[in-house]
Amino acid sequence: MIRRLLPSGTGRISSFRELTPVQIQTSASRQARPAKDEVLTAPGGSLHDINPRIAEKCALVRMGRRLSFFVLTGQQEAGDISAFVASAALALGEAIPVPILVDQQGLRAINVGQAESRMAGRKGTESRARLNALIGRAAASLTNDVKLDRSAKHSMVRFQKNNFLSDPLDRFAMSPEDAELLITSAFNFADAGDSVEQPTVDQKFTITDPEKLPANVQTIRCQTAALEGGGRRLDMRFIYKATEFSASGLSQIGLLPDHLDHLYYVQTVGAGLFTIAAPTDNGKSTTLNLFSIDMVRARQSRIDVIAIDDPVEFMAPEICQLAMTERLDGGDPFEQKLLTTLRLAPHAIKIGECRTFATANAAIDAAYTGKLVMTTQHTAGAFGIPFRYERMGVERHVAYDPDTHVCWMSQRLVPALCQHCRLPIDRLPVDFDRRRLALIKAFRPLLERHEGSYFVRGPGCGQCLLEAGAGMPGLRQRLLVAEVVLPDRTLCRLLESQREQEARHHCLVALNTPTMALHGFHYLASGAIGLEEFMSIASPRQLAEDLRSVAERPGDRQEFQSTRDAAE
Ligand SMILES: [Zn+2]
Repeated sequence: MIRRLLPSGTGRISSFRELTPVQIQTSASRQARPAKDEVLTAPGGSLHDINPRIAEKCALVRMGRRLSFFVLTGQQEAGDISAFVASAALALGEAIPVPILVDQQGLRAINVGQAESRMAGRKGTESRARLNALIGRAAASLTNDVKLDRSAKHSMVRFQKNNFLSDPLDRFAMSPEDAELLITSAFNFADAGDSVEQPTVDQKFTITDPEKLPANVQTIRCQTAALEGGGRRLDMRFIYKATEFSASGLSQIGLLPDHLDHLYYVQTVGAGLFTIAAPTDNGKSTTLNLFSIDMVRARQSRIDVIAIDDPVEFMAPEICQLAMTERLDGGDPFEQKLLTTLRLAPHAIKIGECRTFATANAAIDAAYTGKLVMTTQHTAGAFGIPFRYERMGVERHVAYDPDTHVCWMSQRLVPALCQHCRLPIDRLPVDFDRRRLALIKAFRPLLERHEGSYFVRGPGCGQCLLEAGAGMPGLRQRLLVAEVVLPDRTLCRLLESQREQEARHHCLVALNTPTMALHGFHYLASGAIGLEEFMSIASPRQLAEDLRSVAERPGDRQEFQSTRDAAE
């Protein structure tokens, strides 16, 4: 079993370069193999009840009569490792050999090899087959998350797509024991992540090997969590190579003409900080990728865009994608890559996500040097972007500086109503859910003032059930709703003094910028999206205020009305 893990000359297991093959695979040891190979520190091994933190750093392996001791590079001098060596020597009644240094991947391979051989046989094969079927099924229906819950008595598998959770899938009904085996199979199947499976610890691991993944999947990120009462949950997040609208260009994803004008302006300026804010799974990185590709194509590939993403979720020939590596000092890898990028002299830089002060600061510095720096944030709306930078530690006068920021964008992907089973709000069935009715009532003052054909989600029909896969009945593929703001001094000043309502008014009236609420209203009033789905964009009150602001713009109401008609 261990021999399988040794360098084979294919270069595939490069992380084993620090391993000394001679020490393990001598002809002597090959002859003397009475006992089976065993990773003593892995689950099921004779020393497996050691502290989990130690099991993550080293592995003690018996091959035949020989003991080998593997330690993560850099950890060989650690105090807890020395203490473990002493106690293991005592427990086994023999000396622990000099450590062989391995990296995280190497240590993972040793432990997984042990776990796999323990699972060998019919049960193991069945479990792997079930895992493959689950991954294949999820990828075919473009599921975002597979959720497996295992308690002492039950287990269930559900798919989450477009933010809706499916019913438990009968096809993947299994006993809690089989569910536990499936989690182990997924852990062993992964190529990177925690090195020893530990059911009582929250763990993460990743499947990235293209040979293991369906053709449309880039990566599967897995996270386990121990549940109260001894159960476990596994969440597998699927990251697809091509997302919903990657086949089309920037002009075909459903942005309003005003949005496009503003984005083309940003491409022309080609400098400053451009931030897209949205919660996870609202397509913000897809928009950023399409924007980058569009910019490169518009300039006949005469500009160089360098991208830093972790993990890489999208590859395009127009964009130079840097490989990400872990930093040895534990610092933010984005910051270091950004400094490298600047020395590569690009025109524009795309940073997957701005998470820390170090990255934000380096991004702002790069923007000052005349580069266009594009990044994303987890913030609800465009107006929250400067505040978020300030919270990250960026100085206030920089965070609210219109010369630093060239553009703030925000977007949502909102599921469209199935046109075949949607329900008009003035003809709802008598037994309509009261909770849903309460929400519809919140829109009433607004709907009375603004004409339109308003609908809510229907019960589902042959059309949408077939198309939606694991999604919610009554809903279909998602529509893009966005706001693209080119901040000026007045807007920044209003936001800095927390006058957001006035800031929105200024945007709508002076900057000619439709808000997300208004963009969403186009779809709402034409029955493309439902009242409940609209709530993920803005509250009814917010929408009413934005509509009031637009009404103040002389001559513009008509224009707005005509775009709405065009959308229908
Ligand atoms: Zn339907």
